Amino acid sequence: MNIPDMIIAIDGYSSTGKSSFARLIADELGFLYLDSGALYRGVTLWAQENGVISPEGHIDIPALEKGLEGLDIHFEGHGSDASTFIGGRCVEKEIRTLAVSGMVSPIAAVPQVREYVDRRLRVLGGRKRVVLDGRDIGTTVFPDAELKIFMTADLDVRAERRMKEMRSKGEDVRYEDVLRNLQERDYIDSHREASPLSCAEDAIVLDNSRMTLEDQMVWFRGIIARMADGSDGKN
Ligand code: C5P
Repeated sequence: MNIPDMIIAIDGYSSTGKSSFARLIADELGFLYLDSGALYRGVTLWAQENGVISPEGHIDIPALEKGLEGLDIHFEGHGSDASTFIGGRCVEKEIRTLAVSGMVSPIAAVPQVREYVDRRLRVLGGRKRVVLDGRDIGTTVFPDAELKIFMTADLDVRAERRMKEMRSKGEDVRYEDVLRNLQERDYIDSHREASPLSCAEDAIVLDNSRMTLEDQMVWFRGIIARMADGSDGKN
């Protein structure tokens, strides 16, 4: 199949499985994968470790802005093997903890942080043949992306999946805490002023509440086959 050069933007609510789906797509198409949430998580971890966030959760905006100037967050590896680095240190595990999840949405609501992340994504993703996942990829970062998918799933399904994922990585989390964190992030992400989470008008909605990852790939392959035939993938 002739896969056209394109940007694939995958947005949606927290823990809808965007990154697992995006990584598989990148592997299958041989595209670059960019996890925009990992950049927000990296900024949050850096801020927590450098006294930019007080123990009460207050964010020192001038210190944050200054720190962003020299902050090197990047990815190493491709597709399903991509990992997040701050300078020479791999932080892939640390950025996924509940401690980081608890502060990432307030940090991601800071306009200077969004500018920092958007800039990096546009440099890395500008050459097409790329899959990105996040909250505002199809609406703000790459509004001209050739394919936009908006992912959603029932809240209890998302919380259950997220809890299992965290427990499998050795983090001892309670269902109620994971559920509350998802609700808080959904709320902050959808209500912030700077590029809030919303479904782009031209996005295809994927509700995967009752779908396996393989079901989703079958669905995706159908879209790609139609695009390779010259349609926009929707019909
Ligand atoms: O995708 P993930 O859940 O790892 O993202 C972590 C957080 O980063 C989200 O809850 C959201 O607050 C923020 N984010 C964002 N815009 C993006 C990607 C992530 O605001 N494009």
